[in-house]
Order: sequence, then C-alpha cells, then structure tokens
Amino acid sequence: MVRESEIRDGELAVAPPAAADAGLVFIGRIHTPWTSRMQTPRQGRLDGPICRIEIFDPWVPALAGVERYERLEIIYWLHLSRRDLVLQSPANDGVTRGTFSLRSPVRPNPLGTSVVRLLRIEAASLFVQGLDCLDGTPLIDLKPDRTLFTPIAPPQPGDSEGATPE
Ligand code: SAM
Repeated sequence: MVRESEIRDGELAVAPPAAADAGLVFIGRIHTPWTSRMQTPRQGRLDGPICRIEIFDPWVPALAGVERYERLEIIYWLHLSRRDLVLQSPANDGVTRGTFSLRSPVRPNPLGTSVVRLLRIEAASLFVQGLDCLDGTPLIDLKPDRTLFTPIAPPQPGDSEGATPE
C-alpha cells in the first residue's frame, strides 16, 4: 500500500498504548534505489534491482556460513510508517479491512519481511534481489529461507538432517 500518513475514508486510527520496549537493536541498514514510498514496489521480486544490505559492527562475524544459502529471509523495520491504524482502505475507496488481514507497512509494529536472492557477500555487505523497502531502512534480522531452503554447499557438521539449522 502506498501512503504517506493520511487517513482515508473509512479508516480508523486508535491511540496506541505506551511502548513496552522489546529491546530490539538494528543490526544494519538496507540500501535500495527507492527514496519515496510512492516509487517503492509493494512486494519485492527476485528479478528486481540489486540492493545492498549493510551489517553493522559487532555483528559482521555472524555472517559466517550465510554464503551457503541462495535465499534469505530479511526482516526490517518500516521506520516511516504510521502505527495507529486498525482499519485501512488499501484502494482508498472507503472499503476497509483490518490491519492484520493486510501486508500493509502501516501496523502497530511495522516489521517487513522479504525473501531475497543472495548474489554475493563482500565484507560486511550482502548484495541481494527481492527487496521492497526505502533506502536507509533499518535491518532487524536475516536468516536462511525456510520454505525454499536450498543449500549451496554440502551439509556441514552441526547441520540437522535435511533442515535449516535453527
Ligand atoms: N515485503 C514486506 C512485507 O510483506 O512484510 C513489506 C511490504 S509493504 C506493502 C512495502 C511498502 O512499504 C512499500 O511499497 C512502501 O510503500 C512501504 N515502505 C517501504 N519501506 C518503508 C519504510 N522504511 N518505512 C515506511 N514504509 C515503507
């Protein structure tokens, strides 16, 4: 859904309770070609533009082994989203749906997820395709894709049989 922060016909905003800090830390930043929500795709495509995921210190050593996976799940914080809408009108036509029935970036905790194709890793940067977020979007986590799990290298000691290590 492309929106800045307007309230559309039929939408409902609420007063959110005070935040209970979950203690999240941003582990990196996502660099994409998009600087406006109006231009950003609603969902990423695996043949989309190459984007760079920058990992901050001290988390860079946690990338060891990531190169073995063709696909990753990326979890990010849609930092410019409003967070108070419970009813939304995706088509801006007065017809509303509940926030939890949508993949809208507008939600109480604006987490976004994408499955991306990993092209290469250079030092603290991962080059990927499949994202749909603004340049500068904070990174929460990344992990091997669960449903499209495809090992690039043969199983290693410590892998559980036929499954993504958890
Ligand atoms: N693929 C993710 C998901 O399904 O969880 C996000 C989907 S969401 C519909 C993608 C839209 O969020 C983009 O088209 C853009 O309008 C908006 N968006 C992207 N990055 C954002 C950011 N950092 N802050 C707020 N909105 C953002």
